[in-house]
Amino acid sequence: MSRIYEPSGPSPPALHTEHVEHGAPPAGDRQSGRPAVLIVEDEARVASFLVKGYRQHGYEAEWAPLGAAALHRAGHGVLDLIVLDLGLPDMDGSEVLRRLRTSGDQTPVIVVTARAHLDDRVAALDLGGDDFLAKPFSFAELMARSRALLRTRWPTRKDPSGPPDQER
Ligand code: CA
Repeated sequence: MSRIYEPSGPSPPALHTEHVEHGAPPAGDRQSGRPAVLIVEDEARVASFLVKGYRQHGYEAEWAPLGAAALHRAGHGVLDLIVLDLGLPDMDGSEVLRRLRTSGDQTPVIVVTARAHLDDRVAALDLGGDDFLAKPFSFAELMARSRALLRTRWPTRKDPSGPPDQER
């Protein structure tokens, strides 16, 4: 089963998450043992879909709608994964990635963008992105790529969301 992100589809359920604002405490729950993922995406509908999906798959999911908020959050608490949209209102996602890596942050980053040109993929990976997904993408593929990156990060841990055949 694969759910395809549909920009023109019906409205997703209300977004049960908080913006990451300057000064807000990190919401990652390290005691839960669940991996913390930060969704950097300015489109609330897309962010809602991703946050809800990650939570259903056993992640602690937070949302940052702006690049500045994403950098702030990344600098204030451990994240296990960042899903980064390139098209952000305040700065390009590639700039977010460049600043993250320049600061020494090695959190795995999946770059997600509607720009599917080869140049964009190459630039994203050259800047330190770990993976790349073009919109529209299947949520199942995003989960699979997330699991693959987390296996690298936590090789001895059980996958947070279990094998694909147990997804529902
Ligand atoms: Ca965007």
